[in-house]
Amino acid sequence: MLKFLGLAMLAATPALAADTVIINARIHSMDGRGAAAAGGRVAQGLCIENGRITAIGSTAMARACIRPGTRVIDAQRRLVLPGLIDSHMHALSGSLADTGIDFAAADTPEKLAAALQALKAASPGSGPIQARGWQNHLFGPTGPTAAALDAVFGDRIVLIESVDGHSSWYSTAALKAGGITAATPDPVPGSSFWERDAAGHPTGTAREGADAAMARRLFAPTTAAYAAAFRRWLPRALESGLTGLFDAGMAAPDEASAYRLLAGLEAAGTLPLRYFSSTANRGEADDPVARLLQLKAQYGGRLLRPTAVKLFADGVPEGHTAFLLADYRDKADFRGVPMMTDAHLDARITAAERAGVPVHVHAIGGAAVRQVLDAVARARFAGLNGQRHAIAHMDLVDAADVPRFAKLNVVAQTSIQWATRDPSYDNIGRFVGTDVMEAAYPVKRLIASGAVQSFGTDWPAAAYLSTWKPLTQIEVAVTRRLPGRRDLPARNAAEALSVAQAVRALTFGSAYQLGVERELGSLEPGKRADLVMLDRDIFRVDPFTIAQARSLLTMVDGRVVWQAR
Ligand SMILES: [Zn+2]
Repeated sequence: MLKFLGLAMLAATPALAADTVIINARIHSMDGRGAAAAGGRVAQGLCIENGRITAIGSTAMARACIRPGTRVIDAQRRLVLPGLIDSHMHALSGSLADTGIDFAAADTPEKLAAALQALKAASPGSGPIQARGWQNHLFGPTGPTAAALDAVFGDRIVLIESVDGHSSWYSTAALKAGGITAATPDPVPGSSFWERDAAGHPTGTAREGADAAMARRLFAPTTAAYAAAFRRWLPRALESGLTGLFDAGMAAPDEASAYRLLAGLEAAGTLPLRYFSSTANRGEADDPVARLLQLKAQYGGRLLRPTAVKLFADGVPEGHTAFLLADYRDKADFRGVPMMTDAHLDARITAAERAGVPVHVHAIGGAAVRQVLDAVARARFAGLNGQRHAIAHMDLVDAADVPRFAKLNVVAQTSIQWATRDPSYDNIGRFVGTDVMEAAYPVKRLIASGAVQSFGTDWPAAAYLSTWKPLTQIEVAVTRRLPGRRDLPARNAAEALSVAQAVRALTFGSAYQLGVERELGSLEPGKRADLVMLDRDIFRVDPFTIAQARSLLTMVDGRVVWQAR
C-alpha cells in the first residue's frame, strides 16, 4: 500500500513550473540543515511560482522549471540569502529624523560644532529647528546646555534629540516657548525628568520623554511629512538587503496615523517590504493588547502585520535611567528605577498570552532584564506557554540570566552594531563600570545556550552607531569592532559570531521572534520568496568589508522590489 501510494504520488506530480527562476547562484538557504558554518544548504538554483519557493537545488533543476514566459535570473555566481529582517527599529521616525546632517557621526567637539553650523545653514528663516543624533560622550552626566545652542542659533527654537533617542537638547527659546521653568515638575523624578542646576532651573536637557507634551506642541510634523520621508528612505532600505522590519514604536506622528499611512501604502501597491508593527503601552490604565487585536483585524495583511505589544522595563545608562543590578559608579545608592511594577508587567504578559500575541520589552540594565525574565517565568509557571516574548536590547544582561532565555522561550533581541569599543564604551563605562560594558552583548553564549537570537538596529536610536543597515550588523557581530576598523581593539572577542550565525539572527532569528518562521527566514519549498542577491560573498570576503556589501537584487513575494543598475 505504501509503495503503491508513493508511486501514485510520483506519477501524479507534474514537473514544476515557475514564473521566476534563479540559476548559477551561490544560495545559502539558512534552513538549519547542512554544516552550520556554511549557513545551511548551498544550492545553485531556485524556482518561484506565485510568490512562493517551489524548489531549491541545482541549476539544472531550476532550468527544468522554465516554461514560456518564465523570468530567468542568471546570478553569475553571486551570493543569494533569505531576505534580511530587522527585528527592532523605528522606520517612520527614523526616516523623518534623517535631516541629512549626521550628528551621530559628529563624535568630537569640533565635528559637533561643524554639524551645528551646517544645521543652522540648512535652516533659513525663523521657524523651529529639529534634528537628531548628538553623542552622549561629548557631554557630562547632566547633558548639554541650552546656552550652547543659543550661542549658535540665537533666539531660535531648537530641539536636537540624542543618538539613543532617550534625551532631548533644547535652546532657551524652546524652554521659554514650552513654559519650562524651575517650577515645572518632573513627570517621574529620577526616571523622566529635566536636568537642572543647583537652583533647580532646567539647564536644557530632558530625559526619557519629560518633554513629550512640549515637543508635540512646538514641533508638529504632519503625517504627509512622515510619508514623504519614509518613501525617500525605502529604496535605500531595500538596497541594504532589508525585506522586512519590526517597528517597535509606531508614530506618524501618532500610532493611529502610522497604521493608516502604512495600510494606505500597501493598498496602493507602494509598500515594497514587510512591516511588522506594534502597539505602545500608555500606562497602567491602557489596554495595548486589545488595541493590537483590533489593529490586526483592521489592517493585518500580507505586508503590514500588527505583531507585538511594546513595553519599557527601563531606560538607558546614558541618562542613568537603566535599571542596574549594582549601584551606578558615579551615583551612590542608586541603581536606576524600573519603569513598570511587577504587577503591571504580569498583567500585560498574562493578557498578551490569553490574546495569543507576544510582548516585546525594552530592557537594558541587568536588573530590568531579570525583572522581565522573572515575569515571564511566573507566566510559564501559571501555564501560559503560547508566546515567544522578546527582550529588546538586553545589553547588560547578567551571566546568570543567559541560560534563562532558552528555558523560558524568550527571544534575545540585540542591536549588535553597538557591541564595539566606540566612544560610548568609555562614556557609559564611567556610569556602569567598564567591566560590565566589556561583558555586554553575550550573543555567542546565548546562542550556545539554545536561545533564539535576533538582530535589529533600533534605528535611528543608538548608543553610538546609528544605522538601519543589516550588513553593518553582520560585520560587527563577526569583528566586535566598528565597521572597517581592524585597528581598534575588539570588544569581548570571545562573543564574536561566525558569519552564518550573524545571518541566521537576521533571518530565522527575526522570523521566529515575529512568529513567521514557517513562511520566512530561510529559502525552502513552500516559503515566501523574500531574498537578496549581494554584490559579494560575505562568507568569503575580508570580514572588515562586509558592511560595504550592497544588494544587487531584492525580492519580496517573488517580486523584484529593488535592482541595482
Ligand atoms: Zn527601540
